[in-house]
Amino acid sequence: VRAQMMELIDSPGIDYDMIGGLDDVLKEVIESVELPLTEPELFENIGIEPPSGVLMYGSPGTGKTLIAKAVASRAHATFIRMSGSDLVQKFIGEGARLVKDVFQLAREKSPSILFIDEIDAVGGMRTHDGTTGSAEVNRTMLQLLAEMDGFDPSGNVKIIAATNRIDLLDPALLRPGRFDRIIEIPIPDEKAREEILKIHTRKMNLEKDIDLAKIANMTDGLSGADLNVIVKEAGMFVLRRRGDMIKMQDFLEAFEKVVSEEEVNTPAGM
Ligand code: ATP
Repeated sequence: VRAQMMELIDSPGIDYDMIGGLDDVLKEVIESVELPLTEPELFENIGIEPPSGVLMYGSPGTGKTLIAKAVASRAHATFIRMSGSDLVQKFIGEGARLVKDVFQLAREKSPSILFIDEIDAVGGMRTHDGTTGSAEVNRTMLQLLAEMDGFDPSGNVKIIAATNRIDLLDPALLRPGRFDRIIEIPIPDEKAREEILKIHTRKMNLEKDIDLAKIANMTDGLSGADLNVIVKEAGMFVLRRRGDMIKMQDFLEAFEKVVSEEEVNTPAGM
């Protein structure tokens, strides 16, 4: 069960330069997660405790997982990912024990980053309707709070949690000593989108006519994950015609394709 519910990577090999348009966010994450692992004496000298946990919130596909992996790589820490929704949907009846296990594992594999994705699934507002499902979720949540309270902020395990729905989180999770750094991961603006496009096309064979700024301008509202899909689609268009250079036209067609698929997946009014 353990192996199924978590992803464990020794050092994920993601560098900060693979993340576009999030410089301010990265500064904050470095200060609150990386430095406590790599240079704990900085905090000791001042006599302050590093944050015990960091919560990132923002739309899907904006780079939350990427950031957590990059910090783990930079700090030479083991990256352990656990999904809140898996905990409550796939492993019914085992949530509390699995939370306990994963914290134990994080200590064994330290220095480590424990990334709790979709924490709203366990850490949503506690329900009081007495159904078994929610009682189970509550138990999982209480275990999570207990683990966080027993946590040594100066130790070499750091927790990063992520959610797309901060509005659903139980305020208990946001109390001091738990997630005392809360960081918004914004949807990329035009400049950020251009940076992300540059990153994803870095190794690609681009024709001179490629205007990434123009594509950035056309893609208002799209996430980094969406832009990654467009770049990959553009590459597939080249492959299909057995070409070796990517043309602006490939990007435009890929853009059309991705946008029309998005419209199918999220019909107006959703
Ligand atoms: P979710 O909330 O759905 O779990 P997330 O915020 O964790 O999403 P990631 O898994 O980090 O999103 O991003 C998915 C993919 O999108 C990344 O692997 C990367 O290819 C691309 N991506 C997202 N944001 C960025 C970014 N800021 N810079 C570069 N690539 C990005």
